[in-house]
Amino acid sequence: MSEERLAEWIRDIEKIFEYKGYTDVKASVGLMLQAFKLFSNSSGLSMNCSKSSFYYNGIDAQLVTEIERATGMKRGTVPFKYLGVTVSQKCLSVMDCNILVDKIVDRIRSLGSRKLSYAGRLVLIKAVLNSLHSYWARIFILTKTVISKLEAICRAFLWYGTDNKESPMLVSWETICRARNQGGLGLRDFHAWNLAAIGKYAWWVAQKTDHLWVKWVHAIYIKNTCWNEYEPGSGSSWAWRKICQVKHLLKDHIFNADIEHYNSQTGYQVLKPEMDKVSWYPWVLNQWIIPKQNFLCWLIAHQKLTTQDRLIRMHIIQSNRCFLCGLQEESHEHLFFSCIFSKKCKDLVASWCVLELPCLEVIQWWVQLREHSACKKKIVAVILASLMYNIWNARNVSRVDGYVSRPGCILQRVKNEVKMRLGQLQIKSRNTRALNWIEYIRQH
Ligand SMILES: [Zn+2]
Repeated sequence: MSEERLAEWIRDIEKIFEYKGYTDVKASVGLMLQAFKLFSNSSGLSMNCSKSSFYYNGIDAQLVTEIERATGMKRGTVPFKYLGVTVSQKCLSVMDCNILVDKIVDRIRSLGSRKLSYAGRLVLIKAVLNSLHSYWARIFILTKTVISKLEAICRAFLWYGTDNKESPMLVSWETICRARNQGGLGLRDFHAWNLAAIGKYAWWVAQKTDHLWVKWVHAIYIKNTCWNEYEPGSGSSWAWRKICQVKHLLKDHIFNADIEHYNSQTGYQVLKPEMDKVSWYPWVLNQWIIPKQNFLCWLIAHQKLTTQDRLIRMHIIQSNRCFLCGLQEESHEHLFFSCIFSKKCKDLVASWCVLELPCLEVIQWWVQLREHSACKKKIVAVILASLMYNIWNARNVSRVDGYVSRPGCILQRVKNEVKMRLGQLQIKSRNTRALNWIEYIRQH
């Protein structure tokens, strides 16, 4: 279809739908069919009436039969499925959303996720499960029950690799859903994201966008009231009242004249204002670190490993003795690196990579990295992460088998991992001293 013909066709369609004050159902259906015919003549595409259905509400059975005969279409009933989602005139029930829940559960089961590390599961939640939810969140207002169900599935998947587990999680979902620079893992809060996505409709109404639905709500609901001050009446639908609620929540964003386009991400930031940034963010979640070690470092930074001092506080165990040295009580501070075993490992690593690794609190270990050059500090982060990971592994082996590795073995594992990681990374720097240092590590 040429551009001129398309523009002409759109104008004709607009004329048909701009017909105002129309109340007669038969005439409305006639206009609709006329529009379809016009589209067919212009584009060469015709509607297959035997495969089409019409949906109705509030008209008598005699009229429905007449429409059926005149159009050749079947009468449809709501709810029905369109593009994989349920279309309903009522608030979506938990049953209606079971398709989404089932899809997410199927993905989890098909991925053989129990074998994945925490980091692998996190990537899957971000890439697959979040995108499924986002698709629905852009179309529907999901109920709190459905959102809680989706969150519970994702929580169980992240921590246990399964779709159904009620056990306590190491870190709260609220913390996980914070931005990475605020100590979270950058997952989306499902409820806030749903509201932000629905904010698009409130924005359309504010902008009087050229949509049939927008014209309809202005004509039927808002009338001459200012949208900014509009309050829905008691007879309004659940969905409309929810859109009005979202309008209030996003008022500053929606009615900001400087914003030209609505963006769900910006709406989300309004609903989830930024918190203080954490000092360890650039290092702990540094992409140079091996991903599974990244996750462990994040747990250590939050002091959420299942160390014995925490288990005692939870009344799970009665006594606390470090599995590595057997001398003192086990805690994050002790393991990294007050314990004589881990201190020995740290000294061996420091001597291998010619670094000063002073005795500091866990967080300070990361923060003090800023003193190194841009390239070197990332490699130091890789070394520290590998050291912490292997100490925690040695502690777990000792807890299960009662056997403590030699510090020399830990050093060897750290060396192997760091050299392997250096082989995977593309290191570009003009800092000759840093490059020489990296080369030294590779060779020793
Ligand atoms: Zn110890």
